[in-house]
Amino acid sequence: MLIDYDSCRRFAQVLKSADIVSACVEDFADGVFYPSRGEDPESVARFFFFTVAIDHRTRIRGFKYEAVVNGRKAFGASLLYLLSMRKFREDPDLFSPERMSKISVKELKEWLEIGEARIWDPEIRAFLLRDAGYKLLKLYEGCVLNVIKASEYKLYNPPKGGFVERLKVFRAYEDPVEKKPFLLVKFLERRGIFEPRDCENLQVPVDNHLVRIAVRTGVVKLHPEEEELFKWKREATMEEDVIVRLTIRRAYKCISDALNAKPTLLDDFLWNHGRTVCTPENPKCGKCILRNACKSFLSKRYLLEHKFLNTWYY
Ligand code: SF4
Repeated sequence: MLIDYDSCRRFAQVLKSADIVSACVEDFADGVFYPSRGEDPESVARFFFFTVAIDHRTRIRGFKYEAVVNGRKAFGASLLYLLSMRKFREDPDLFSPERMSKISVKELKEWLEIGEARIWDPEIRAFLLRDAGYKLLKLYEGCVLNVIKASEYKLYNPPKGGFVERLKVFRAYEDPVEKKPFLLVKFLERRGIFEPRDCENLQVPVDNHLVRIAVRTGVVKLHPEEEELFKWKREATMEEDVIVRLTIRRAYKCISDALNAKPTLLDDFLWNHGRTVCTPENPKCGKCILRNACKSFLSKRYLLEHKFLNTWYY
C-alpha cells in the first residue's frame, strides 16, 4: 500500500472549497452522549478515559449493536456513548478508578446492554476497564489529569513520556497505530482539558470508517495482492493491519497539512462521513461531496475496509 499524494491533494481541495471541515466540528458537550459543559474537569476526563478504553468494534459475527433509547435511535459507538452517559448520570461513582478496577462482567452488561443490543466481548471490555482503573490508581493517584500533567502537556515527550506514550501502559490504549489514544486526545482537546504543546504531532484516530474512505477515494493505492484483504477473501494479520492503518494515518496527515487543519478536526468529518455516506453497503455517492475526487465513484468498484475482526484496538 502506498500513499497517492496527488489524490490526497485533490481530496483536500474538495474539502477546502466547501469549507466542510469547520462545518463538521463538534463540541462533545451535548449532555446526551457526552458530559455537559460545567462538569468538573477530572470527572469529564474520567468519563472519556474509561469510555474510550472500551470504544472498539461493536458489530461482529451477528452481534448488532443498536437500540432506541428515550425515543432516540442509536447504533455502534453512538449507542455506547449514549448508554455511558446515562450510566454517568445514574451512578457517577462507577467512573471512579476504584470502582472500575473491580468492575464485573455483569455490571458491564447492565451498563452497555439494552433491548436486543448485546456486547460481543464483555469479558475483554471488563478486563480493559479493570486494568485501566487499577493502573490509574497505582501510577497516577487515580487522576487522569495527573497523566496529562506528567506528560508536560505533550503528546510525545521522550524520554519521560508524553500523553500518548504514557497511555500505552494501559492495555486498552496499547494499539501501535494509537487509535484510542488519539480519540481520547480529540475529546479532551475539544473540552479544553488538554491542549497539546506539540500539536504538530496530532494524528487522526484510524478506524474502519477512515480506512474504507481512504481505500475508496484512492488516497492510498493498493498492490493487486493486497486487494483480497479489502474484498474480505481473507483476514489481515496483525502486522498487515498495522501497516494498512499507519499508511492511511500518514495519508490523512498529508490531507490535514494541505487543509491547514488539525487531524482531530478532520476526523469529525471523516467519522461522520463513513457512518452516514460512505457506508460499507450502498454508499450514498449521489450526495457525496467527494465523488468528483473519488476513484471508486469513477470506476464503480467499491472495496471495504480490510478484514480484521478480533481486536480491541479500534
Ligand atoms: S463517492 Fe461514494 S465511494 Fe466515494 S467517498 Fe463518496 S460515498 Fe464513498
